[in-house]
Amino acid sequence: MHVTDLIRRKRDGGELKRNEIEFLIQSYTRDDIPDYQMSAMLMAVLLRGMTRQELAALTETMLNSGQVLDFPELKAAKVDKHSTGGVGDKTSLVLAPVVAAGGLYVPMISGRGLGHTGGTLDKLESIPGFNVNLSVADFRRVLGECGASMIGQTAEIAPADKRIYALRDVTGTVESPYLICASIMSKKLAEGIDALVLDVKTGSGAFMKSEEDAIFLAELMVETGQRLGKRVVALITSMDQPLGRAVGNALEVAECIDVLDGKGPADLRELCLVLAAWMFLIGRRVATLEEGKRLAESLIASGKASEKFREMIGLQGGNAAVLDNPGLLPQAKYQVDIVSPSGGVVTAMMVEQIGTAGVLLGGGREKKEDAVDPAVGIIVHKKLGDTVAAGEALCTVHYNSAERLERARPLILQSYTIGTKTSAQARPLVGRVIGSETLGAAMS
Ligand code: URA
Repeated sequence: MHVTDLIRRKRDGGELKRNEIEFLIQSYTRDDIPDYQMSAMLMAVLLRGMTRQELAALTETMLNSGQVLDFPELKAAKVDKHSTGGVGDKTSLVLAPVVAAGGLYVPMISGRGLGHTGGTLDKLESIPGFNVNLSVADFRRVLGECGASMIGQTAEIAPADKRIYALRDVTGTVESPYLICASIMSKKLAEGIDALVLDVKTGSGAFMKSEEDAIFLAELMVETGQRLGKRVVALITSMDQPLGRAVGNALEVAECIDVLDGKGPADLRELCLVLAAWMFLIGRRVATLEEGKRLAESLIASGKASEKFREMIGLQGGNAAVLDNPGLLPQAKYQVDIVSPSGGVVTAMMVEQIGTAGVLLGGGREKKEDAVDPAVGIIVHKKLGDTVAAGEALCTVHYNSAERLERARPLILQSYTIGTKTSAQARPLVGRVIGSETLGAAMS
């Protein structure tokens, strides 16, 4: 089989056979196909799309590139949540402890920052000592002991995604619904879960800018998961503005600590409660979403969720004292306010630019081999519908390099539209739910 023939066929709109997709993915994972050929193939897929048969073959080959876990020893349901990626999108760090504190198991395999979006692993690694590279045996042990464990793809679990994900990040090939579906579902199905809640973002900070595209991606993922026997739902949620106020690894961890302490920004708290309610529902821990939300609220109010996070951080080698003193998280050397050039109301935000500004500050990767600076980021003071005076701070940037600040500053400034409307229209935080109608018998 010649790789160039396969690239050409896909480029010209043809279909690849299952054995050809297996050959491509397996060879690339073994290092037998160079990055430049895989990049060309990924770009051809991005431009041409895939048939359902190709997508099934891609997802299953990526899933089977490593171990597919199973936890027969765990008696409660194993549930996870995964987001398609956003800016300030940090709910996993709240959800894993909340849902584990509620008695379900959360075996969570996450990703690193991708494009302009942040990654759960980069956030967790800003906690001093936290190890996201556990062996499968340690992952199993931590999960059994405290109910939640959060790790990255390893050589053992979905290694094909680990490699392809890093390549997509730097080749402009993230935004394909087929590649996103295969990436997310291969990792998630390898975790040994019973049920999965997908948070599919739409809006200016999401990969799927239009709601129509977000729904298409949600349907692909729900269909893939349900076909392989899992209880899967997808929530379409707004990424028209950053979630919460913090964008940047350590800053986001600090904001999650606040939410687990019963504080934190209202939108972040609300989305965490809704996603937790769905996790409890499809994990069959509760009978209704209202009951699930109340359970999540009570686990936060009682401090049990925060204690669960402490336990998990400790078991994964991290310094759990950050929960009592977030000042122990990495801190940037400098801070500066970005001020509004005019007065008015924030009527729109180009959220992708804010995410890219975070990457340029050093909070993400411009090249595959870049190290991430955990301390840098942006605290967003003004969001959609907020009134701002000329000269008032829109954001505060936490930075370590003046040169990086100067690259990020214009992006942040240009990302805001300050208008005169008094009532800017933001879409609801949580929109349609895809898949609940097809769960049917699986829920009883
Ligand atoms: N999250 C993933 O794990 N993969 C993607 O491709 C996008 C978001």
